[in-house]
Order: sequence, then C-alpha cells, then structure tokens
Amino acid sequence: MRAAVFQGVEEPLEVEEVDEPDCPEHGVVVETEACGICRSDWHAWRGDWDWIGVVPTPGLIFGHEPCGRVVEVGDQVQTVSEGDLVTNPFNLGCGRCHHCRSGRSNVCERSVPMGFIPIQKGAFAEYYSVREADQNVVVLPDDADPTAVAGLGCRFATAFHGLVHRVDVTAGDWVAVHGCGGVGLSAVHVADALGANVIAVDLDETKLDRALDLGADRTVDVTAVEDVPQAVKKHTENSRGVDVSVDALGIADTVQNSVNSLGKTGQHLQIGMTTSEEGGEVSLPVDTMVTDEREFYGSYGCPQVEYDEIFRMMDTGKLDPGRIVGETVSLDDVPGVIENLGDYDTVGIPVCTEF
Ligand SMILES: [Zn+2]
Ligand SMILES: [Zn+2]
Repeated sequence: MRAAVFQGVEEPLEVEEVDEPDCPEHGVVVETEACGICRSDWHAWRGDWDWIGVVPTPGLIFGHEPCGRVVEVGDQVQTVSEGDLVTNPFNLGCGRCHHCRSGRSNVCERSVPMGFIPIQKGAFAEYYSVREADQNVVVLPDDADPTAVAGLGCRFATAFHGLVHRVDVTAGDWVAVHGCGGVGLSAVHVADALGANVIAVDLDETKLDRALDLGADRTVDVTAVEDVPQAVKKHTENSRGVDVSVDALGIADTVQNSVNSLGKTGQHLQIGMTTSEEGGEVSLPVDTMVTDEREFYGSYGCPQVEYDEIFRMMDTGKLDPGRIVGETVSLDDVPGVIENLGDYDTVGIPVCTEF
C-alpha cells in the first residue's frame, strides 16, 4: 500500500510502498477514507516532544485523525463489524485500567498515541489498524461525511472535551480563545454552541474572520495591541477579565496571555502543547493565581464515550466540524502540508482525502 513515511527529524516525508498492517486479535484494519493533518504531526516531525516520550523513528507513519471503512476484524472483537464506517480518538486506551473503565480512556495508564510510535502506525496510508477496537473504535452513522469526521479529529474532539468536561462553561460566560488554528477555531465553535460570549485572539486577520464566522463575538488582533491580556479584559464588564480562557497554541506567550486574561476565579484551559522553545515549561503568575483563585486545567484528547455527545449536537446542527476543514489534499501533498504548518498560515484543518 502507499503511505507517507517519516524519514528523520525535519526531513521531508516520503510517499512510498509499504506492507499493509496486520490485524490485531483485539483490533481492526480500516481502509482510509480521510485523515486530518494536525499540528501534532508537525511537532512530532520536528522532534519536539521527546520530553513526553514521543521520539519518532524512521519508518513511522503519522496520521491520527482518521475515518474509514473496516475491512478486517480481529477474532476477539465484539462491537465492530466489517463494512462499518469508523473513527477513533488519537490516544488509544487499553480498555482495562481504572481510567478506561471509568470512561476516561484519554488518560489511560497504558495509552498508545496513534501515529506517534512504531507499534501503532497512523493513517496517512491506504490502510491502518486500530488496537483494542471494542474500547477505541467509534462506529459512525453510515451516511456520515468522512471529511467532516476527520476534521473532528483530535482538535475538535479535544476542544469539546476540554470545554464541556474539564472547565465549567455556562451561558453568558466570557470565554477567550488564544490562537485560532484548527483547535482554536474548534474551541470558538464549541464555546459558541454552549452559549458563551467568545473572544477570539490571534495575529492573523484571516483566522480572526474565520473565528467570527464560527461564532466569535469579539476579536483581539495581537499585532494591533500592546497588552494582549488587557485588550481581552477590555471586552468584559469593568475589564474584570474572562471566566474561561483557552490556550490553543502552546507557546509561552499564549499560555501567559491566556492565564493573564482571566478574572478572579477564572479557569485556564491548556489544550496546545509546547514547542522545543519551551520544552514543556512556562513560567506563570503563581501568586496572582492564588489570590484570585484562578485554576489551570490540562485537557488531553477526548475519551471515546464522549463522541456520542458530539454526534448528537452535529445531528441537530449545533456543531459542524466540517466548517473547520480548510482544504482537502491527497497523500502526495501530505509531506508538504505538514512542513508548511511551521509557517502558521494554514487556515482551518487540512484533511487528506485521496490515498
Ligand atoms: Zn486504559
Ligand atoms: Zn491532531
């Protein structure tokens, strides 16, 4: 089969012929129909995340936002059948640890991130396998649009899990979103659907316009203001600060701007992960966080059991991940698209739809 294969840190991926994946006893093999291209692919390609144990090796296939049709089912699988249209969270749960058993498979004790380590290759390929299918595979309605589902990918699902299940967003809350890439636009759209007043923050006008389309009520253009947190706060009554602030990028500036945009008792939601520049460490105004009782939440992926909530909101039109999709490309374009994510000028989510 054809696949986009990792050659080494910051070396262009090569599209080459490789062996099709074997079907695990507890897993499935899926024929790929669509796979989102994510900033996480770019981070891994740059060798950014060795401090969290992600060290890609040559031969690895990226791609963790897949949608496709099941072509082979392992003997031990009970809930997935050949022909099912499926997706899965990017971090695959074991199905047996206490987190998996309590519905929090996104923080599984033995979690396996798809497309980042050799034992679970990803979906920039004609076929991919998914381990522990009963735990991880989400069976979709047969008429679901694979491109929109791939757009749901890790970014939309992560934004949903973070805003719905980690912090407390209620109607009328001020929610700031710092960074309007794929996950940021997803956060804008989800926060709007939850009834929040949304402030989108970015340095790119096109992305801010896109955020307004997706439900942002106010914007802050970082290039036009001196003090980003103050500019965000200005949109709230008496500049009291926002109730929830999301860092959807993961560089020191956006983490700090987000925490400093909060009002008293505000909640910061960290979705973006840092680059080599930060190495996972960013300094924070700890004393103010104490005296204001501000909170810092991490949010990592989305457990499989929460996908139903997203699909119910998609059914009624309240959420539409397809709107975040920026462009569709073919497998041959994947190496270039991943490389270009370093320019930060990609609008919306690119999805590979031709393999
Ligand atoms: Zn587990
Ligand atoms: Zn992703």
